Amino acid sequence: MNHLKSYQNRVVLTVWQLNLLVSIVFVGMFNQSFWHKINTVIEPNSYTDYLFLGSITMLLLVVINMVLNLLVTKTTYKYIYPVIFMFCAICFYYMVQYHIVIDRDMIRNVMETNPAEAKDLIGFNLLWYLLWLFVLPSWLISQVNIGAVSWQRVLLEKASVVVGSLMAIGVLIYASFPAYASLAREQRQLSHLILPTNFIFASLSYAKEQLYNIRQPFQDLSQEVRVDVALNGKKKVMVLVVGETARADRFSLNHYARNTNPKLSQRNLVNFQNTTSCGTSTATSLPCIFSYLNRQHYSHKLGKNSSNLLDFFKAAGFAVQWRDNNTGCKGLCDRVDFVDLTNVPGDPLCESGECYDEILLKGLREQILANENNQLIVLHQKGSHGPAYYLRYPQSFEVFTPTCHQTQLQKCSEQALNNSYDNTILYTDYVLDSTIGLLETLPADTDVSMFYVSDHGESLGENNLYLHGTPYFMAPNAQTHVPFLFWSSSLDKQTQQLDAHCMQQKQLAPLSHDNVFHSAMGLMNIQSDYYQSDLDLFASCKPRHVVVATEPSREVVKL
Ligand SMILES: [Zn+2]
Repeated sequence: MNHLKSYQNRVVLTVWQLNLLVSIVFVGMFNQSFWHKINTVIEPNSYTDYLFLGSITMLLLVVINMVLNLLVTKTTYKYIYPVIFMFCAICFYYMVQYHIVIDRDMIRNVMETNPAEAKDLIGFNLLWYLLWLFVLPSWLISQVNIGAVSWQRVLLEKASVVVGSLMAIGVLIYASFPAYASLAREQRQLSHLILPTNFIFASLSYAKEQLYNIRQPFQDLSQEVRVDVALNGKKKVMVLVVGETARADRFSLNHYARNTNPKLSQRNLVNFQNTTSCGTSTATSLPCIFSYLNRQHYSHKLGKNSSNLLDFFKAAGFAVQWRDNNTGCKGLCDRVDFVDLTNVPGDPLCESGECYDEILLKGLREQILANENNQLIVLHQKGSHGPAYYLRYPQSFEVFTPTCHQTQLQKCSEQALNNSYDNTILYTDYVLDSTIGLLETLPADTDVSMFYVSDHGESLGENNLYLHGTPYFMAPNAQTHVPFLFWSSSLDKQTQQLDAHCMQQKQLAPLSHDNVFHSAMGLMNIQSDYYQSDLDLFASCKPRHVVVATEPSREVVKL
């Protein structure tokens, strides 16, 4: 190659040669997850299959090379490549270790996490991956010199690469069109496995969404809220516990073989057993739970830029507070009171620098008593957040043993991993029971209720999948089937404000996070144009004289 020569102990290349070399490295070394998946999908055993695999290899090379060609120039390659290698090394590690995929939701997840949560995900192994996949290639790049070329030549080269790539893409796809069409239709997640384009496009998509959020004015939808005649003159206190990473199928209330709900099983609860989440990550599910929009119509753009459940309650005269032991409220509580309980120095519940979920109840009873208003209190749990499940509960809740005491989940036995996770559910059982216990001690003239719903579930090694955040369309039930519980003093048969029998009949109905907003509004008789009675679980279970008929104004999911 006449362009390639040794000059002052450095290799001299043109930009397009460097990009091509890096593209080959990406196709061959960074795309292990993609090749593994494509092999299981195609199961090559004939000449045609291997030809198709060859075509995919070429397609990957051409696409990656074209994207790099658009990003990298003679003056930027020394800065852009180390950044790309660093993020790709991190993505590669998590893709191989936990079988996650990289899409916009995953980038949002990462951007909206906090140091305590991120700390659990950083293992010693990650350093090895960074050494080989970030430090080494970055050093090699630093040893390259780009030869002097006129700007006209650079433009010509870039244009040639783009035009040549587009033509090559066209020819490759045309030659195997039926196979590519089938792959695109049935394996939509494949593009999320291709490094570095998955990371680059997901980041650009996230950045575009953030820009939109900044530009978009906030829409206050809660101005016309009406509070209908109360059932009684009592002060109302509603606690909404937002769980974290809890799987419905690990609740013995939902027939899990282990007794993970020894406390709640003694309570008179309504247990909505068939509830699905809006997303598979906190960053997606949380705003969706609090939005009036159903999952089908929900988008981050709409949800984050308009009033949510907290705003509607505030407009209805409720004192609203968000108590957090997680990663914050993702902007939902910007207009209400926020209490950060993730680290309370000196409190015995927070000795490790992080707090156990009981901290959410700290001073809560006194606070409720001191406020004459109706109140909505959100308790945002740390719940069962992984991979450090063993850090989520006090020692006394380590009932199922042996447990997994590390974050490299593959290194633990299946049994140990499940034990650790089940202990987190056992502790959540205790925290929820304590919350109900606290509400029961409030004066008799207080109408108290508690919702509990988890934001999403968790994969615990089934099909080699761990954690959560899998794109919804391909997510297993373990990540989308969530526990959803309701308790209220109104379920007491003597008060008859809610028909307990009617509520029990809803326990097996297919429900979702879509029901939370409208049920909470309905229970408190808060009326608005954005409330939909057919998503309100209580609408048909109240005494006739207080049911307010509301025509659904948009497409809704029936019970
Ligand atoms: Zn979550």
